[in-house]
Amino acid sequence: MGTKGREIIGMDVQELLGLLRRAYADEWLAYYQYWLGAKLVKGPMKDAVGAELLVHATEELLHADMIAMRIIQLGGTPITKPADWYQATNCGYEAPDDPFVKSLLVQNIKGEQCAIGVYKRLLDITREADPVTYGMVLTILQQEVEHEEDLQALLEDFELMMGGMRG
Ligand code: FE
Ligand code: FE
Ligand code: MG
Repeated sequence: MGTKGREIIGMDVQELLGLLRRAYADEWLAYYQYWLGAKLVKGPMKDAVGAELLVHATEELLHADMIAMRIIQLGGTPITKPADWYQATNCGYEAPDDPFVKSLLVQNIKGEQCAIGVYKRLLDITREADPVTYGMVLTILQQEVEHEEDLQALLEDFELMMGGMRG
């Protein structure tokens, strides 16, 4: 990164790189969880849920892209081996082994809630120290909040529909 660009960072760059590398692993795992879930999803509303999962997959991949670029700008290297994602991740990976709509929604809501916590912490850490990373994290956090809302709305529709069928 340029010398002046580095000079304005008011925190330990290695510490920041460590946090960004963990978030980078989260994004790839979230991407794969959504991407595969979108293909496997079964049950009522599977088309609507699958479409949303696929859009989210695309957005998680864009988050990975943004974080990779910032890591490189800061003089670091994004994780080079997928095998290392598991060790670095904050939010883990939940295999879509049960492809029922409700199970996938519940799994992915959990992932989004974890992501919201991770990015809120990163936001607090970078707020004063690194305005460039702060701006990126804010953009990502806005989308994770949207993801959680989208999934919870779908789950609500699903529950209402199932209730209607019982009644
Ligand atoms: Fe994300
Ligand atoms: Fe997300
Ligand atoms: Mg969405």
